[in-house]
Amino acid sequence: MSDLLLRGGIVDGRERDILVRDGRIARIAERIDAGAAEVIDVGGKLVLPGFVETHIHPDKAFIADRTQGLRAGGPTAQTLVAELKKTFTVDDIYQRARKVMELAVRHGCTSMRAHVEIDSFVELRGVEAMRRLQADLIGVLDLELIAFAQEGIFNDGVTKDLLREGVKMGLRWLGGCPYMDKDQRGQIDWFFETAQELGVPLDFHADSSDDPALLTCDYIAEHTIKRRMQGRVTVGHLCMLDVLEPPHRAQVIAKLREARIHVISLPATEMHVKARTDTRRTWRGVARLGELREAGLNVAVSTNNIVNPFTPYGHPDLLRQALVAALSMHLGNLDQMAWLLELITTNAAQAIGIEGYGLAEGCRADLVVLDARDSAQAITEQAEKLYVIKNGRVVARNRRTNELSLS
Ligand SMILES: [Zn+2]
Repeated sequence: MSDLLLRGGIVDGRERDILVRDGRIARIAERIDAGAAEVIDVGGKLVLPGFVETHIHPDKAFIADRTQGLRAGGPTAQTLVAELKKTFTVDDIYQRARKVMELAVRHGCTSMRAHVEIDSFVELRGVEAMRRLQADLIGVLDLELIAFAQEGIFNDGVTKDLLREGVKMGLRWLGGCPYMDKDQRGQIDWFFETAQELGVPLDFHADSSDDPALLTCDYIAEHTIKRRMQGRVTVGHLCMLDVLEPPHRAQVIAKLREARIHVISLPATEMHVKARTDTRRTWRGVARLGELREAGLNVAVSTNNIVNPFTPYGHPDLLRQALVAALSMHLGNLDQMAWLLELITTNAAQAIGIEGYGLAEGCRADLVVLDARDSAQAITEQAEKLYVIKNGRVVARNRRTNELSLS
């Protein structure tokens, strides 16, 4: 692979040249002699490390046209999807998931951690499809997979064994969903025990409802500390913080901080699904990102669902998710606009433990160049991702064209 020189991109607020060699950032400086490198002029354009998707469900994407979707008094998204899942074939999952990946790459994503549902309905068909896709995308997108129990583990006799099988087949995380079992704590116990036995990190879909009596993240945090798994546990959703009284909430946040839990907010799904039966107020249920960040937690934002009953307009464009997060969580002053993109880059990379990630010499050359000068403009204009670079190779070039006729 020949060297690549990005000329004049904005790095940490200043125009810099970036030399890429052997898939890494070799040098960042005010002016670098191009030598034999291929030069791309990115003068005045914002350069970021590639976007990182930490919580997404490609195996149940693009199925909104197979169901009526949510309506008052009708079945939940959970029920609608569980029914459809029985009909999924390996090839069907592969094709739909591939479409997700292609869109994600086009929109600046260079690393993704995806959930793969494993249960009596879909068995290991998702695992087979996603492992194939993982191999097919080497060099384009780093794809990590979570063996995920969307239907709980105590509702049938096979899921627990299938989850272990999934890990044996190459899935590197275990994913629980306590609110799908009556015995939430029993499920959490099983996941901690099994994760330690198999030596894998944990991810939970947790505290998705608005009933404080069902809170589990404090229990997850306690176990994380007790079992010395600090930094290796992620929690997605965390909608319930929003209905706790402030002193209780502060206590829970302190416990999460102590356990070094990574929090992943999924604002698009929350805003579509939450509070549908509340006739008085529309609770938004988005994790309190600003407050969590201020308390010193690592927080990220992710896509979750794509074109299914959970989020019919879901799209794997993380820049869009940053905007949805800003809108739903009152994040919009200059300071907040400046750190919002961390939620889809550095914080997300930290949540899933990506090594050598960032905009510094020696880091992997996973980069995205935006048609904007700074973070605020990128979010406001939903700037085009002019170049997406993976391991030092341009994997997507995008251009937006406009024609105005004003007179
Ligand atoms: Zn999810």
